[in-house]
Amino acid sequence: MRKVRVVVIGSGPAGLTAALYTARAQLSTVVITGMQLGGQIATTHEVDNFPGFPEGVLGPDLADKMQKQAERFGAEMVYDLVTEVDFTAGSPFTVKTQNETFLADSVIVTIGASPRRLWVPGETEFTGRGVSWCATCDGFFFRGKDIVVAGGGDSALQEAIFLTKFANTVTVIHRRDTLRASTALQARAFANEKIRFVYDTVIEAIKGEDNMVNAVSLKHLKTGEVRDFKTDGVFIFIGYDPNSEVFGGQIDTDAAGYVMVNNRMQTNVEGVFAGGEIHDDIFRQAITAAGEGCAAALMAINWLGEREGNGLLQTIEATLEPA
Ligand code: NAP
Repeated sequence: MRKVRVVVIGSGPAGLTAALYTARAQLSTVVITGMQLGGQIATTHEVDNFPGFPEGVLGPDLADKMQKQAERFGAEMVYDLVTEVDFTAGSPFTVKTQNETFLADSVIVTIGASPRRLWVPGETEFTGRGVSWCATCDGFFFRGKDIVVAGGGDSALQEAIFLTKFANTVTVIHRRDTLRASTALQARAFANEKIRFVYDTVIEAIKGEDNMVNAVSLKHLKTGEVRDFKTDGVFIFIGYDPNSEVFGGQIDTDAAGYVMVNNRMQTNVEGVFAGGEIHDDIFRQAITAAGEGCAAALMAINWLGEREGNGLLQTIEATLEPA
């Protein structure tokens, strides 16, 4: 068992920002990264709206810079998955990963959300064989191919635009006749001659031959018509679900599983803070996640300071002093 001051669960913009602040406040900090260091931003091709990058920045590069900045102040990345926590006895809290057990004075939960599945026949069978949730990772394999994208939100259009770098055509299949994506992204997608739209339609099944996708079965929701549509690949961008199951009900969530916090980013467990997409189902931007990670870290620093008699202001000031 390893004793640390702060365990940050998750390594997206919220987690890496939280770790930057707690490590810089001289608190030993371990970040349990999960499967994807950098979280969702690391699987996003281009990020146009993170301040400080006037020309935009590649998602993996942004994640890499955030990691290095947290490490510069001593945060340690642990490439592992949290399997279990015990928050019942209060601080110090037990956080178990597949390989290690940590005892932490404070925990910051930034475990984020995972991409939703369609839950249709063929989806699991053809995962990695034409079905993907990551355009950045898999787009390259679809050079000159015809592919479909499921979804009508910002992710679907942003990634559809990216996929046109490789694919011959990208057909966006959306279940309504109005897109959810921002008007700016819609304008870019409409102007891209490789992108087509099929509205009021859902994918009912993913089909294939020789272990590769070759068609989707589409159902028109207004007419009920079902037809096969030839495609070489299916990219799914239909939103995300919060990863709160690992807490086994020890921290309060809303009905959808989003962790609830007070205005000090504190969960119902004193000393356990949360920020980013595990808590925020409204803004869901890399910059808002980073902001919430910062706020959760400042509150964790405060909480530890108050508890240990260091005084709230002194502790905060220590984090704000130039390095
Ligand atoms: P989202 O905004 O929740 O959109 C999900 C899309 O998938 C919606 O069009 C939804 O249809 C559709 N959908 C959901 N479940 C479905 C199902 N079972 N079958 C078929 N379609 C389904 O998710 P997102 O696009 O991943 O975006 C998540 C958040 O990140 C948003 O807040 C977004 O603004 C943000 N984001 C921002 C940017 C950017 O600023 N550049 C880029 C990416 C993401 P309905 O429209 O009918 O609900």
